[in-house]
Amino acid sequence: MSSLPESCLWRHAMPPATQDTPPAIADDCDVAIVGAGYTGLWTAYYLKRLAPQLSVQVFDAAHAGFGASGRNGGWLIGGLAGQEGWLTGLAPDAREETRALLYGIVDEVKAVCAREAIECDLAHSGVLYAARGDAQAHRAAAWLGDLRAAGHGEADFCWLDQSALAVRLQMAGAVGAVFSPHCATLHPFKLVQGLLAAVRRLGVAVHEHCPVLGLGDGRLRLSDGAVRARWIVPALEGASGALPELGGRVQAAQSLIIATEPLSDAQWDEIGLAGRPAFADLSRGITYGQRTADNRLLFGARGGYCFGGRARWDFDPQGEELAKRGELMRAFFPQLAGVRVSHAWGGSLGIARAFTPFALRDCVRGIASAGGFGGEGVGASNLMGRTLADLMLGRDTILTRQPWVRGEGTLASLRHWEPEPLRYLGYHAIRTSFALDDALADRPHVPSWVRCTVSAAADAMEGLMH
Ligand SMILES: Cc1cc2nc3c(=O)[nH]c(=O)nc-3n(C[C@H](O)[C@H](O)[C@H](O)COP(=O)(O)OP(=O)(O)OC[C@H]3O[C@@H](n4cnc5c(N)ncnc54)[C@H](O)[C@@H]3O)c2cc1C
Repeated sequence: MSSLPESCLWRHAMPPATQDTPPAIADDCDVAIVGAGYTGLWTAYYLKRLAPQLSVQVFDAAHAGFGASGRNGGWLIGGLAGQEGWLTGLAPDAREETRALLYGIVDEVKAVCAREAIECDLAHSGVLYAARGDAQAHRAAAWLGDLRAAGHGEADFCWLDQSALAVRLQMAGAVGAVFSPHCATLHPFKLVQGLLAAVRRLGVAVHEHCPVLGLGDGRLRLSDGAVRARWIVPALEGASGALPELGGRVQAAQSLIIATEPLSDAQWDEIGLAGRPAFADLSRGITYGQRTADNRLLFGARGGYCFGGRARWDFDPQGEELAKRGELMRAFFPQLAGVRVSHAWGGSLGIARAFTPFALRDCVRGIASAGGFGGEGVGASNLMGRTLADLMLGRDTILTRQPWVRGEGTLASLRHWEPEPLRYLGYHAIRTSFALDDALADRPHVPSWVRCTVSAAADAMEGLMH
């Protein structure tokens, strides 16, 4: 492991900072955090704010933000992947409390950025999930039904018809969109750098280029020694396979992004996105994008799994998989024909077997951990950082009473993924069914019974994920 690639737009704007005098590693500390991404840094931040007397060390095999935190699409979502399942099961009062907590993520991050003078180009203008064609519009209607059942009101998620959408975003084939105000866009690596500076100011020792080789018996194993800690916090997400204790419980999948050269005002007039809302379509393929602060169009799409759930950080910017993102972007935005893609990169995110995030505290082994964000960890990591701090400090708060918190769990209590080659085969079966369903949607020459059968198969595959 070394550094964020040059082809990553975020690094291009702000190279990783080096420290003149790296801190010495203390053999003993109160809390040792493994991984200097958002989860590790937010946890360190809230711990030191609540208990300044604690000694906290963070270890990263590369540099802060080398992982998904420095390379993501910059959607700061006020919510968690899979939250509808939890919300639907809660009593009305608890549901209101939980919804407020989730929506409040964006304001909390904004408040910390203001307090710590973190400039990360944050724009709080919501998110547009565009329906490209009738099949996606039907999916939007079903999704809105689920959202209402989970207690989300019209002010939280609403349908914009074609003309209302056109004022905000012009995407080929879009017949409307689901809009939610509970999302912001930002520059991911600037947020990492700002958080890193904030935790250092609070007295946290961050050791970069210092891989952790294993953990157990209240110790971290490093290449040249060990560190004893009351609490150890694995915060590795897509890189969880690096530690045998987590590997197999949180597995990596890939997501890839491209960014155009800066566009002119005239080009933006043809696309929209005034105020810089996040956008996606409602295909099964999971796409995402934003208009960056320097006026580029950033476009990403999920896809990729390495046998064994291995993390992957190197991608050929000229390779086929990134070229496919370019084709997809131009299908969404024919306005961009002839526009150059200046940056292309990818990274690994973490998925837990339950397909929902978790926060846990294992008092016997002195381990606290969070992850499984399923590609929606920019906001979730803030919530989990606050939660882990409360759990380790033994505080009984609204955060520690949430359904995704295993107050007294063990790493072993996290469900294990199926052994290979089942995982690999399962991943590819699901992806193939999704891709086929997306490809056949709105193709009138394909008999409707074929489309319905493929769609039902894709639904069944999706059901298997829960
Ligand atoms: C391409 C892409 C786009 C995404 N877009 C979005 C988005 O728009 N919105 C959103 O909400 N989420 C998005 N995500 C997901 C989000 O970025 C992650 O959920 C989040 O950044 C996870 O943060 P983390 O700190 O848990 O993990 P990471 O940021 O992955 O940090 C893990 C750290 O652990 C370090 N490490 C690895 N092995 C070791 C070891 N042995 N010892 C010590 N350190 C080690 C790594 O160097 C890394 O810095 C995206 C992810 C990807 C890959």
